[in-house]
Amino acid sequence: MPSKRPSNFVDIMATVNPDAPARGRKRFQFDIRCASQAAEQGVEVQGLRLLSVAPGEEDGSFDCAIARSDGEYVATLTILVSDASEYPSDHTFFCSSQDDLPGYVSRVTETIHEDGSATIQKTLMRLLEKLAKGVATSKKTAQSDDEDDDEDIEDDDDLGAYDVDDDMGMLGAQPGNSKFDRTALQRHFNEIVAYGYYPGFIPFGLDDFALSVSLPAKSLADTISARALMAWDKHLLSRAQHLTLLVSGLRGVYPFVEHDATFTQSVHFHGVAPQFRVGLTSDYKPTKEDASETIRKYGLKEEYDAHPAPEPVQEPLYLDDDYLDYEDSSTDDVGALNGEATEDTEEHAAGFRPFSLSSSLESLLNGHFLRILQFRIQYKLGWAGAERLLWEVEGTQQPAGDIMRLREAYIRSEDEADMRLSRSYVLPADPLLERDTTKPVNILLVAFSYLMRRLTLCPRYCLVCHQPLQEDLDALKPYVCSSKLCTYQYYTLNRGPSLEYEICANPVTVDLLVSLAYVALAEGAPDAPLPVGMGLRVECRTAPVASKDYEGLYEFDQLSPNDMRVATMQLIDKLPPIADMKKHLQQPRKAGRAKPRLQDLDKAVPEAAWSVLRWCVASCTAHLEELELEEDQVKNIGPEWKQFRFSVGAPDAEAKYRQAVERAQAESPRARQYPSLYAFHGSPAKNWHSIIRHGLWFKDVAHGRAYGHGVYFAKDGAISTSSYSAGAQSCWRNSASRVTNCVALAEIVNLPSKFVSTNPYFVVDKTDWIICRYLLVKGSGYVNPNASTSNSAPSYHPFNYTNQPPPPEENVDNSIPYVPLDPTHPLTLSQKWIRIPEPTHALEKILAARREEFIPINYDEDDLSIFDALPPAQPTQRVEEDTVMTIADDWQHDREWVLQAIEHLIPPPTESSIQATTALQRELKALLKEQKAAKSLKDLGWYMPEDLIGDNLYQWIVELHSFDKDLPIAKDMQKCGVNSLVFEIRFPAGFPHAPPFFRILKPRFLGFSQGGGGHVTLGGSMCMDLLTADGWLPSYSISAILLQIKLAISNLDPKPARLASNWDSPYGMQEAMEGYRRAAMTHGWKIPQSFDRIAR
Ligand SMILES: [Zn+2]
Repeated sequence: MPSKRPSNFVDIMATVNPDAPARGRKRFQFDIRCASQAAEQGVEVQGLRLLSVAPGEEDGSFDCAIARSDGEYVATLTILVSDASEYPSDHTFFCSSQDDLPGYVSRVTETIHEDGSATIQKTLMRLLEKLAKGVATSKKTAQSDDEDDDEDIEDDDDLGAYDVDDDMGMLGAQPGNSKFDRTALQRHFNEIVAYGYYPGFIPFGLDDFALSVSLPAKSLADTISARALMAWDKHLLSRAQHLTLLVSGLRGVYPFVEHDATFTQSVHFHGVAPQFRVGLTSDYKPTKEDASETIRKYGLKEEYDAHPAPEPVQEPLYLDDDYLDYEDSSTDDVGALNGEATEDTEEHAAGFRPFSLSSSLESLLNGHFLRILQFRIQYKLGWAGAERLLWEVEGTQQPAGDIMRLREAYIRSEDEADMRLSRSYVLPADPLLERDTTKPVNILLVAFSYLMRRLTLCPRYCLVCHQPLQEDLDALKPYVCSSKLCTYQYYTLNRGPSLEYEICANPVTVDLLVSLAYVALAEGAPDAPLPVGMGLRVECRTAPVASKDYEGLYEFDQLSPNDMRVATMQLIDKLPPIADMKKHLQQPRKAGRAKPRLQDLDKAVPEAAWSVLRWCVASCTAHLEELELEEDQVKNIGPEWKQFRFSVGAPDAEAKYRQAVERAQAESPRARQYPSLYAFHGSPAKNWHSIIRHGLWFKDVAHGRAYGHGVYFAKDGAISTSSYSAGAQSCWRNSASRVTNCVALAEIVNLPSKFVSTNPYFVVDKTDWIICRYLLVKGSGYVNPNASTSNSAPSYHPFNYTNQPPPPEENVDNSIPYVPLDPTHPLTLSQKWIRIPEPTHALEKILAARREEFIPINYDEDDLSIFDALPPAQPTQRVEEDTVMTIADDWQHDREWVLQAIEHLIPPPTESSIQATTALQRELKALLKEQKAAKSLKDLGWYMPEDLIGDNLYQWIVELHSFDKDLPIAKDMQKCGVNSLVFEIRFPAGFPHAPPFFRILKPRFLGFSQGGGGHVTLGGSMCMDLLTADGWLPSYSISAILLQIKLAISNLDPKPARLASNWDSPYGMQEAMEGYRRAAMTHGWKIPQSFDRIAR
C-alpha cells in the first residue's frame, strides 16, 4: 500500500549521498547502501515501486526487487557492474534475473548496457521509468483479470464522471485521486487562450485523451525573425499551419502534475507516462487519427534516444524523414521540384508533420523539461538558472540542494545573463511569474511557453545535449556542441534538417556545399572544418599508426590531419552527382512501398561517404538558398554567376544591424537618406567552406591587412573576384557547379567616416555593421552553353574610381522595390551598375501570404465541452469599501472627481472575443491584487477604483497620481486642485495581441503647439510607441504600461507636461482618436487594424 505521497526518486536518492567517496569500489558499495535506504523510504516511479536494493552474491553486483504500486510483484533483477574500479563514470551495467521475466521486462533489461555509465541511483531510475512504460503498453494488450483499469470497460463515456475511481478504493486511494478534473482543465484552457495560444482536447474512445497547444506558424514571425525561421526550416512559413505541441500518454488523467510540478498520485496509480511531441498541423490541433498515428509511431521508436545502440546495424542510416511529403509545398513555393513522384497531395497536407527541430525539442521536453521545471519552482529560478542547475546535477552527480548551497551565485548569474539576452530576443511571456502557486501547474501552458523560448533561442543550444554552446560565434542555424558524443549522436540519430529533403528541395545548394568542402580540402585551406567526432571508418593508404579493423578501415579521428583531408576528399569523390540522388529519391513508387534510401542508389558508395555528405550539409550554420526567381536576383550580374541568398549570424543580427543603422542616422543626414551601403567581400574559393560555417570575417585575412584591421570590402565586384579571390584549382569529380570563384555581397551601415578605411577598400571593424545578403558563385558548370556568348566571359578591367561609372539603366523591372543605393559609393561589377532588390521583400511577400490565408480558429465540440464546463468565472466582486490601508500622508482616492471625469464617457466597445475576455480577467485580477498588496498608494502611483469596474471588461477607469512634486505637472495639479489624471482604457477584441487604447478623460493638458509636452496628444490620448501595433507586445501587463505612461508624462523632454487653462473641460473620444492617429502618422507607427472599431 502506498501510504504516503511518493516523492521524487531523484531527490530521495540525492539526499543521502553528499559524503560519497569519489569513485571506485567504495563508491559503488556506498551507492548501493544509499539506494537501499531510499528503497526503504519508499521509491515510486510512474506506478512502479522499488521494494528493495541489496548487495548481490557476486562481488560488484546488487539485487533489486520491483513491484507495482498496487503490490503486484514484477521481478527481482541482478545488476552487475563491468568494472567497479571505474564506477561511476567508465563502467557498464549488465542485468540478469532468476525469474521468468515477462517480455516487456526482458526487453528493458537486455538493453541496460546501452544506457552508458551512470550511478546506481540514476540507472535504477531509468530502469523503473522504462519498465513503467513497458507496463503501460503491455496492459493494453494483456488478458487481464488483475488489471487495475477495468473501468475502461465499465465506465460510460462521460470523462467527467468521478466514479471511475471507485475501484481505486481497494488500492488505497486517497481523496484527490480522481482521474479527471474537468474544471482544472477548463481553467488551464482559459489561461492558455489568455496567453494567445490555442488549446485542444483530443478524446480517444472511452477513457483516454491527448491534449495540444498550438500557435499559428505565421505568428512565429511576430517574435522570431523571418530570416531565421526560413533558415531553420522553410516549411515553417510554407503554408497556413500551426506549430503544435501534443501531449499524450495521459490515460485519462488530468491534472497530472502538482503545484510543484511533481507527478500527482493518480499518475502513479494509472501508469501515466506523459509524452511530448512537436510538429506542424494544418488546424489548431491534430485530428484524432493524426494524433493516434503520431503516438503509435512514437511508441515504436527508441525512447531513450540519448543513449543509442552503439552499432547502427540494420537500421537505415537516414531515418524516413518524410522528405517526399514536402514536395507539394516546395513546388508551390519555388517550383524547385518537378513533381515526378506522384502521390495525392491531400494526404501530404494532413498529419502531424515533424520539422527540422522536432526531434531535438522532443528530446528536451521528454528528457529534461519536468526536472527543469521542478528546479525552477523549488529554488525560485528562471529557466536559464534551472537549466544550469540540472546540467550541474547531471554533470557532478551531486544533489541539487548541495549545488544551490555552494554555487547559488553562479546558478543565479545564468538568470541575469538571460535578462540581458531578452533585450535582443523576444522571449515568450512566462506563465510561472503570475500563477497561483498553490494550484497544479498549468503544464500545457508552461511546456508550450518553454517550447517557444527554446525555439526562439535554438541556435544558442546544442541540438543533442541541449546545453548552451560555448562557441563565440553566433550562428543562424542550430547545430551541435563540440563534444564528440553530441556530434556522433547528431549524425547517427539524424537530428536537425533532413539531408534527403535538402537534396530534393535545394540540390544546387547541396552541390555547392560539397564542392566548396572539396576545394578547401584539396587546396589545404587553413582551419578547414573536418568531419571529426562522427565515428567515421575510412580507408587510408598511408598506413598510419592507428590500427585497422577487420574490414581494413581506420578510425577517422585517429588519423593525422593530412590523412583526414585526403580521406574526406576520397569519400567525396565517391559520391554520385547530387542530381542523380535527387532523381533517385523522387522516383515514383507504389503506395505502401518504403521510401527510397540514399544508400540504395549505389551500393559501392561506402557508408562513410554518405555521412560526409550529411556533414557537408548539416554543419553549415549559415543559410544558403539558390535564387531562382528573376525578381529576387541582383540585377546586372552576368549569367555566369549563380546567386544565393546568404545569411550568417545570430537570429537577432538583423535587429542589431537595424539599431546600428538608427544610430548612424542620428548622426548623419546621408544615412537618413541612404541607410546602407552595399559592397563585395571576396576570398579565395578554398576559404568559403570555413567562412560559411564560422562567419569569422576577421579571420579571413589571407591577403594581408594593408589598410587596417577589419573586414575588407570592394566597391566593384571585379576587384573582389579577380585580384583577391583566387580561383579554385581543383574540383569534386561529380560537382555540377565546378565552382571557381565566390564573392559575398553585404549590406554595411552608411557611416564611412567611422570605417577603418574607405579607400580603395571599405574596411569595417564592427561586425554589427555588416549583414550578409548574397553569395555570388562563378563556376564552369553554371555556364549555360546555349546562352549568348556576350555575357559568358566578362573581362576584368581595373576600375578607375576617378571616373564616374555609367549611369544606371532605365529599362529595369520597377514592380519590385529596390534598395536605394548611395550614389557617392556606386556599386558595380565590371563597371556595370548593380541594382539590389529590397532584401526583405521576398520574406514580406511570404509573410503577407500566410497572414492572408489565416482562417480564424473555430474550436470544435470537444474543446467547447471543456471551455463550457462551468459558467465563466465572474470577473470581479464589487467591494463595498476601500480596503486599502490608509497610511498618513498617503494619496487618497476622490470619488467625486472621478465621477465628474467619466460623466460623458461613451459606452464600452461592443466587440469581444473569448481570448480577450480571458486575458482581461487575468489582467484585472492581477492589477487589483497588486493594488491590494501595495503598502502605500503614493508609491504605487496609480489607482483603480473598484466600485467603477463596470459589467464590461473591455472598458476600465484608472487614475494616475502622486507625480514627483518638483515636476511642473505636479505643481499645476496642486494649484488647480486636481487629485489625479483619470484615464479610460478601451480594449480591442484582439487583445492581448492588439494594444489597448489609453486616453485621459480629465484634466485637459496644454497642447504641444502651445508649449505642452509629456507625450499627451492634443486629444488626450497617449503618444507612445508601445501602444501602437509596432511597439505593442502581448506580454505587457497593464500595471507596467501605467508606469510607462507615468514616466512619459513626467518626462521633461522635449517639453514638460502642463495643464491647460481650460483643464476642467473633459476630452472627447473623437479628438482622442484623431490625436492618436496623427501622432502615429508623424512617427511612422502602425495603427492597429481594429483601431476604428474600438469606439463602437
Ligand atoms: Zn552537446
